[in-house]
Amino acid sequence: MKVAVVGGGVVGLTTSLLLRRELRNAEVTVLASDFDDTVSHVAAGIFRVGASYSGPTERITRQWIRDSYEYYDNIRKSEEASHAGVIDIAGYMFANSSPSTVENHWIEDLVPIYRRATEEELRLVGGDWKYGSYFSTLLTQCSLYLPWARQQLQADGVTLRRRKLRSLDELAGEFDLVMNCSGLGARELCNDKRMVSLRGQVIKVKAPWIKTFFYGELDTYVIPGCHSVVTLGGSRSFDSENTRLCRHESAAIRERCDALVPSLRHAETVRQEVGLRPHREGNVRVEADFMRDGRSNRVIVVHNYGHGGYGVCTAPGTAMYALRLAVDAHKSSTAKL
Ligand SMILES: Cc1cc2nc3c(=O)[nH]c(=O)nc-3n(C[C@H](O)[C@H](O)[C@H](O)COP(=O)(O)OP(=O)(O)OC[C@H]3O[C@@H](n4cnc5c(N)ncnc54)[C@H](O)[C@@H]3O)c2cc1C
Repeated sequence: MKVAVVGGGVVGLTTSLLLRRELRNAEVTVLASDFDDTVSHVAAGIFRVGASYSGPTERITRQWIRDSYEYYDNIRKSEEASHAGVIDIAGYMFANSSPSTVENHWIEDLVPIYRRATEEELRLVGGDWKYGSYFSTLLTQCSLYLPWARQQLQADGVTLRRRKLRSLDELAGEFDLVMNCSGLGARELCNDKRMVSLRGQVIKVKAPWIKTFFYGELDTYVIPGCHSVVTLGGSRSFDSENTRLCRHESAAIRERCDALVPSLRHAETVRQEVGLRPHREGNVRVEADFMRDGRSNRVIVVHNYGHGGYGVCTAPGTAMYALRLAVDAHKSSTAKL
């Protein structure tokens, strides 16, 4: 069977890795307009799923999140962990507006530690915090994970090809199955009006002394990753597609993060980045569909896009679900022959 995976971000590459395990005999090609300049590269990569994240049902969403955590945790426990950029990490989330801000109904029962912060801990950083939680979780640094995934795929015979598609129909004569992991690109490829960009800006600084993550209010976060690089954030601008750096936003991020963790004032800026989160109003779309090739044969298409601000942490779970849909659709189409 010939399979095309559209998308070279974390969703496309993770889907491709899992596809090689699930369908060993498939001939897989990953097609992407870009493999290096994707929103996945901008992410801090922390495993923290926000309350608004949603799949089709609560049960399925929980399964995606559980499967994802297990996938990354298995890498963390393996000898591949440092190459793949998967590490464990712990830290604090602080808020003043409401205690629910520091709760997390998706991961509280999943991660090893999730507890209320003590009175002393509320005073660990700048700010006069009323509520806080401390938790441990995982982090996947895409600047390591994506090249690692590409290397694994190429070693396994998968073809990676740069190609910008104007329509998924272009693939109908060439492939039997198409996994559509095109992120924000799905807005055009599927004419999906529910896809919206959530623009985010971050500053990467060198701060080897920061070992703990901190979240404050107004999208303020300090997240240490691999090689002493710490991500300072952030912003979340709905329906904004401007990919240029905004110096006012940079100044605001720096000011908020320095106020939260004052030692950051001495941290040297490594780079600044902007990414457009592929947000989908309602829920992430993981659905089977089909199109017809020139000879009226059915070509299965499985969509897997719209992960918003949580695509790194939930990519493996949605990929596993998408692959089950693909296998079921393939079985039922061959049964009809
Ligand atoms: C500032 C910021 C911080 C973030 N932090 C986190 C975090 O800590 N944790 C977390 O889980 N998530 C985080 N995210 C969200 C995360 O980055 C995204 O959810 C995730 O990267 C989406 O992955 P994707 O593969 O769907 O999309 P992308 O990475 O955008 O990949 C899409 C791929 O599809 C290809 N494509 C698109 N259209 C076409 C076409 N027409 N033809 C061919 N190829 C096409 C693109 O070239 C690309 O290769 C953050 C995002 C931002 C902006």
